[in-house]
Amino acid sequence: MPVFTRADGLIDLKSLSLPEIEAGLTGLGSERFRALQVYKWLWQRGVASFDEMTNVAKSVRALLAERYYISFLDVIAVQKSVDGTHKFVWQTEDGQRIESVLIPDDGRNTLCVSSQVGCAMACTFCLTGDLGLRRHLRPSEICNQPLQVRQRLDEQYRITNVVMMGMGEPLHNIDNLIPALEIYLDEQALNFGHRKLTVSTVGLVPQLQRLAEALPVNIAVSLNATTDEQRRSVMPITRKYSLEELMEACRTLPLKATKRITFEYVMMAGVNDSMADAQRLVKLMRGQKAKVNLIPYNENPDRDIRRPTDALVRQFQHHLVTHGIQASVRVTRGRDISAACGQLGKADESKSRVDGDKIAAIRIRREGEGLDTSRFVFDDIV
Ligand code: SAH
Repeated sequence: MPVFTRADGLIDLKSLSLPEIEAGLTGLGSERFRALQVYKWLWQRGVASFDEMTNVAKSVRALLAERYYISFLDVIAVQKSVDGTHKFVWQTEDGQRIESVLIPDDGRNTLCVSSQVGCAMACTFCLTGDLGLRRHLRPSEICNQPLQVRQRLDEQYRITNVVMMGMGEPLHNIDNLIPALEIYLDEQALNFGHRKLTVSTVGLVPQLQRLAEALPVNIAVSLNATTDEQRRSVMPITRKYSLEELMEACRTLPLKATKRITFEYVMMAGVNDSMADAQRLVKLMRGQKAKVNLIPYNENPDRDIRRPTDALVRQFQHHLVTHGIQASVRVTRGRDISAACGQLGKADESKSRVDGDKIAAIRIRREGEGLDTSRFVFDDIV
């Protein structure tokens, strides 16, 4: 793994795995078992300084402080929705904004976590996409989101589930995502059960395979369309991985957590909500161990896209269910604080983009030429 350092040269200890901390400590002449103590202080207790690690010898703490630092996200804002949803706006060390959303629901508290600053996928309907990709998040930044939410909210809001459905495409950042998820899953660290952890993706096929082989977590795929043409027009990634290729990959994916893939389907009026779509969706689900989660589009002033009527959504769902497909409808939460699906990062749109960011260029072209501009966006995504 790359080592993440701060301007002062100190290493971001929380981006390291337990074996990496062990190697670091033994390299400094300390005993190996100290690493587990340190690791638990970081992730179970969430300490902010080495001095708080009271069972670690003072000499070892001093060694640690010479080489490492303990990173945290700065809290910029915590907004609470009328429906109990909390949105956390964080600032990273380099001044980037990211967001997490806690959604309380019937005894369950689901935390929606960001994996990147912005997103490169440029899905036409999603506001996060407007930011373009600024950068990947480090493991510590992915892990500090639940840690710091835990520290800020009381037992009533204890996080029971985590979904990688915040800003970003988690599988585009798989090199940092996997070490982060290892910290989520580790009993000695954040200790989330693997059935409680879901990674949502636009469907980067090789990375999907790699994730499923590496870790037992739930997988959700944002499908959002039933033909290649339709999907290409809203999710440019379809140019790289066709619907057929994606569905084939899903059929053969080793599922080690829950036994089904969730297919998310954002319903957009007049785009993908016809009964012909429902019929094609039934066909697409053949041979899949799947459930479908219908997400009525969250309307916003920046898009001309409309949400279908509730009656139509129910009719669509009914069609799926009567054809043997488990299908649920996602209830919109946190709209009043811009915390709903597809709204994250919105307040941040005006900030300048990373220099040379291809996506920014694409955006400008897109504005000038309509939507057919994404041919080369994904060249750097293996
Ligand atoms: N990049 C990953 C993780 C983000 S999850 C992925 O696409 O799966 C965000 C989910 O919200 C995705 O399923 C996306 O399709 C959906 N979404 C985006 N904008 C939306 C909107 N305005 N209304 C409803 N759902 C939206």
